[in-house]
Amino acid sequence: MRVTTPAELDVLVVGAGFSGLYALHRLRILGRRVHVIEADDDLGGVWYRNRYPGARCDIESVDYCYSFDDSIVQEWTWTERYPAQPEILRYIEFVVDRLDLRSGITFDTRVTELHWDDGDALWRVATDRGDRLTARHVIMASGQLSTPRLPDIEGIADFAGVLAHTGDWPREGVELSSKRVGVIGTGSSGVQAVPQVARQAGHLSVFQRTAHYAIPARNHDLDPSYVAELKARFQEYREIARHHPGGTHRHIGTESALDVDPAALEETFHRHWEHGGPDILAAYRDFRTDERAAEKAGEFVKERIREIVADPETAERLCPKGYPFGSKRLVLEIDYYTTFNRDNVSLVDVATDPIVRVDGNAVVLESGARHELDVLIAATGFDALTGPLFAIDIRGVGGRTLPEAWADGPRTFLGISTHGFPNLYIVAGAGSPSVLSNMLISIEQHVEWITDFVQYQYKSGIVRAEARSEAQDRWTQEVYDVAEPTLFMKGSSWYVGANVPGKPRVFMLYLGGVGHYRDVCDQVAADDYAGFTLD
Ligand code: FAD
Repeated sequence: MRVTTPAELDVLVVGAGFSGLYALHRLRILGRRVHVIEADDDLGGVWYRNRYPGARCDIESVDYCYSFDDSIVQEWTWTERYPAQPEILRYIEFVVDRLDLRSGITFDTRVTELHWDDGDALWRVATDRGDRLTARHVIMASGQLSTPRLPDIEGIADFAGVLAHTGDWPREGVELSSKRVGVIGTGSSGVQAVPQVARQAGHLSVFQRTAHYAIPARNHDLDPSYVAELKARFQEYREIARHHPGGTHRHIGTESALDVDPAALEETFHRHWEHGGPDILAAYRDFRTDERAAEKAGEFVKERIREIVADPETAERLCPKGYPFGSKRLVLEIDYYTTFNRDNVSLVDVATDPIVRVDGNAVVLESGARHELDVLIAATGFDALTGPLFAIDIRGVGGRTLPEAWADGPRTFLGISTHGFPNLYIVAGAGSPSVLSNMLISIEQHVEWITDFVQYQYKSGIVRAEARSEAQDRWTQEVYDVAEPTLFMKGSSWYVGANVPGKPRVFMLYLGGVGHYRDVCDQVAADDYAGFTLD
């Protein structure tokens, strides 16, 4: 049964993924009137929606979990190195039941309007179910990758077969066996889905515009004695990750890849390749900053692709070109490259022969070639970071909308708050480490900081907190300055909004490191929230 939304709240939380659920729990403990509104009909956020075959996390399970309650840590046991979507969703449900959170969530309800009332110092909220409520504070736990995007291909929405986006996979599943299936998009989701789809489909056509660097995951079942040993020292283990640049335990090399001799370099690359996982990215200190260094890793990966893929022409097409290794998200793969040795799989190079339209049940290329399909899978990503926020009519002081305020790209103080939008807090969004970190570390840090800030305001009799524009300018500049020397600026990726036509091309994430970022946020709090105007 639908939980009624309370008419007056201290805090409204938008979204019931990892972020919103923890915010609900923490604010309840702090004694606040808090409620969550969630657009989906159940909880879990991306892990509820991304049910495509092969969906999996690329942070290790023992790191991609909450740490705030040690009894939960002790009661839950992960089974795989990189957890698959069903296991993550089971974990989220376990936590929710354990903390009795469902009663604080209204499902199947989308927040459509957030209008700031400066006279009463509160947000006036509307939903698509006709709810009207007020909240002194609003926490946007609405996600970073929760707005799936279909590619701008004429006719795609009218595809005559079954069209499915990986980011909003039909709950009832998609019948693939013996079907002619096409996958558009070869980023993280495409690379995960392709091997699984190929096993079921009659024929699979993979439409590739950009080849991505993919590294073996080497996923495996976890040894129970390893898990038990880790649980025994979990808080100590986690504390290290909280101060690590990526929020993980990845070893960060201090040498330059240009200074080590070729044999040692080769040996390091092979070790990473055999071990699996994304740690190769941090093997040398200059992979993020020096194209010549990054290219050494890039060449190594291309050699492996040429070894694995039997057909030399296909192998060459699968080799990434035109951007440096590490400048786009590094993808973890399980059987991706070997899948192209199957008889029922073909790689269609749509960089040289672009898709011009979808016509009936066919994908039509510029050359006139038609690929007739029963199922078309769009693994084409998301309108990242700003998409979920801009989908809501958010109006701050003087009725200014968020898209107006961010016309040249997101402008925030600490990624958490934005000038002109008092008492509104964004969890793990633009201007913070977000999706370039272990998100569970970043989510816990943000939720704790934001809820502490809210509680501080109640204790101090403050009703309005607004980021100062000077503090916001400084922080936004810092975000750009830290990103500027990195190779991320050379990858035409969703980190810079390149996948959405018209989106400002600015680097949206804070690359100064999770540990350093935490220190900056803590200092702001210790200085009585310097950088905010508090009334
Ligand atoms: P979400 O899980 O996105 O939840 C946001 C919720 O808000 C959604 O349920 C949405 O329906 C709801 N919502 C949005 N707008 C509204 C509205 N207007 N009204 C009501 N409800 C609304 N991160 C990692 O760190 N490591 C990984 O390996 C990793 N793998 C990923 C793999 C995939 C396929 C995807 C899509 C993401 C992955 N991520 C990964 C990032 C992932 O998004 C985060 O780790 C984390 O799950 C985000 O949680 P969240 O609660 O902040 O947001």
